[in-house]
Amino acid sequence: MGKSTETENYYDVIILGGGAAGITAAISTKRHHPQLSVLIVDQTFALGRKILVSGAGRCNITNGNLAKDDWRKRYYCDTPQLLDSVFAQFGYNEIIAYFEDLGIKLYEEQKNNNGKIFPITDSAKNVVALLIDELQRLGVVISIESSCTKVTKSNSLFQLQINKENRHRLFTSKYLICATGGKTYPALGSDGSGYDLIKDLGHAILSPVPAAGPLISKDRICHELQGVKTNVSASLIIDGKIQKSGIDDLLFTQYGVSGSLIFNFSRHVSTKFNRGESGTKIFVVVDFLPTITRLELSKYLQKQWDKRPGQTVVNSLLGILNAKIASVLCRQGGINPVKQVKDINQDVQKAIIEKIKAYKIEIVGTKGWNESEFTAGGVRAAEINPKTLASYLVQGLYLCGEVINVDGDVGGFNLSWAWASGYLAGKLIE
Ligand SMILES: Cc1cc2nc3c(=O)[nH]c(=O)nc-3n(C[C@H](O)[C@H](O)[C@H](O)COP(=O)(O)OP(=O)(O)OC[C@H]3O[C@@H](n4cnc5c(N)ncnc54)[C@H](O)[C@@H]3O)c2cc1C
Repeated sequence: MGKSTETENYYDVIILGGGAAGITAAISTKRHHPQLSVLIVDQTFALGRKILVSGAGRCNITNGNLAKDDWRKRYYCDTPQLLDSVFAQFGYNEIIAYFEDLGIKLYEEQKNNNGKIFPITDSAKNVVALLIDELQRLGVVISIESSCTKVTKSNSLFQLQINKENRHRLFTSKYLICATGGKTYPALGSDGSGYDLIKDLGHAILSPVPAAGPLISKDRICHELQGVKTNVSASLIIDGKIQKSGIDDLLFTQYGVSGSLIFNFSRHVSTKFNRGESGTKIFVVVDFLPTITRLELSKYLQKQWDKRPGQTVVNSLLGILNAKIASVLCRQGGINPVKQVKDINQDVQKAIIEKIKAYKIEIVGTKGWNESEFTAGGVRAAEINPKTLASYLVQGLYLCGEVINVDGDVGGFNLSWAWASGYLAGKLIE
């Protein structure tokens, strides 16, 4: 059956995308401009599907470090004034108040002192249910399974072509808030089609690349330790310079490395490799014992070895290291793990210490869109008014969330951006 096209309703405000940013933009629009009619359009079967998977289903809503002076180093954006302006208007305290007003009680996770804030229910499902309750209380109209394929503007009105149930429908609106997200986990809805819609309206898109995903390495240690998760300190070295460091979980996998620590490194690797900068040398240098200095480690080993000369090298490490890691690091240092310590010399001890304190893993690539948590790149922030989130190019168009060229560290910074920018876009439409 051929597709028919119908002319549909007019709404004062249409919000394209019902993720964290779009839902919040709709709530904010209705709270600040109750007289306006508001429609959310989303192409999947439910709103907030990425919120549901965030924080492994626990919803890492925000991060306490957003309230600290150095919060800016957690974000990447072509025009940092946009971040300054948005978080000055709707920062950490406002995000907390937004959720408390919805009745959602929050707590800060203590692990690694990393500032992650979760709902006390640890349930993203509950968070989404309460956000949708609020949309309904405020009278926001929701259209799911509705894919927007074209946006134009004429006579001061936006015209949106929406494909729903195999029919093309036309919607018109005075204001359009674009919250179509990035390109990662396309099965959850954000498939990058939003970039094309915004490009057609005249905006420039900085080439999107997957961020916060696993990294690929051919180092045998990854294969040998696959499945082992350990808390380490590590640095990302790009062309000889330290790009980023941190202490967090590292997971070895069959193809390379993963885990929160690596996710925070991955945007730097991805922007190099996936934007075509060939010849770049990238290493992750791991310190498996971040709480012990080299000197302390050397003294510890010497004491162990003097006292128990018949012990195997690997067993002499079991008081401080995971057994599998100890054995693999010995082998990587060219040492037979079952050799007795009395048979090895100072140089070998140094080699072991070097492997434990500064193991260099060469990185050769990143995993792609299906395994990365968010997107680096997107609509250039320079084309957006930092005070209002209005497009400088198209009157009546506002942008928020991941569709903009803003990405943050893992730990609640990306959702924070989505809530904050969504709330302001909804509030500041004129
Ligand atoms: C596995 C995973 C875990 C994560 N964990 C965390 C975390 O713990 N903490 C954190 O801060 N961040 C986390 N993130 C990132 C965070 O979820 C996103 O940055 C945030 O949800 C982005 O919100 P958004 O509203 O901008 O975009 P999205 O949530 O992607 O929403 C965009 C919406 O637009 C719709 N859409 C797109 N194009 C069209 C179109 N053409 N027509 C109609 N609808 C369209 C999509 O269906 C989608 O629902 C995680 C992401 C993933 C994938």
